[in-house]
Amino acid sequence: MSHRNTLIDFLELEEIYTQSESPFHRFYRIKSIAERCKRCRLHKTRTQVVFGFGNITSRVMVIGEAPGGNEDIYGKPFIGKAGERFSQILREYGIDRDRDFYITNVVKCRPPNNRDPKEDEIMACEVYLKAQIEIIKPKLFLALGRYAAKWLLGLKNTPQMREIRGKVLTSRFDVPLLVTYHPSTVDHARNANWREFAQNAIKEDLRLFSDKIKEIKAKGYI
Ligand code: SF4
Repeated sequence: MSHRNTLIDFLELEEIYTQSESPFHRFYRIKSIAERCKRCRLHKTRTQVVFGFGNITSRVMVIGEAPGGNEDIYGKPFIGKAGERFSQILREYGIDRDRDFYITNVVKCRPPNNRDPKEDEIMACEVYLKAQIEIIKPKLFLALGRYAAKWLLGLKNTPQMREIRGKVLTSRFDVPLLVTYHPSTVDHARNANWREFAQNAIKEDLRLFSDKIKEIKAKGYI
């Protein structure tokens, strides 16, 4: 089933499909459905749903794994220490996270104790991510971490980061995809060497991402 059919099924399921509705209105109506969602167990432990944030007309999407503690409290993705470092690197390359892309996660509710999202939770939540993609129509994806990369590549097994980062891939939506480590990898590094490696890899990958955004802007998509 194509992601468009999945979206239509979802909209009919929720009885909100309206032919004349603008993409902007549909986006925020889907957000309001997500905000009361109980499709998976994560609804029991969340403070609030973290739907996403940024420019929905940017044609660029950044997709991470799941909200963390700060995100769960404030309802905005990537606002903790790792998120701030991510934003700072991009600022240095001339990219503004609120202007130049839309950022979200494969699951919209925080897993308890920041554990990895489970397969059935990702499957339950993907209807929202597919709806976001359907409306934003991205020309470029950036996946932060293996779970987002796995989903965007449509893989059965979780890929090794060293095999997929640092190059332009093709996502399951036929849209160019870049992959880098999740920004929190640096904070959870097992030793100083690994921390330095991850830090440098993220910087390198975000430089490539910034260059690709500038190419998209030059083509007039943004
Ligand atoms: S993670 Fe997604 S599917 Fe699960 S309750 Fe939250 S919004 Fe619903």
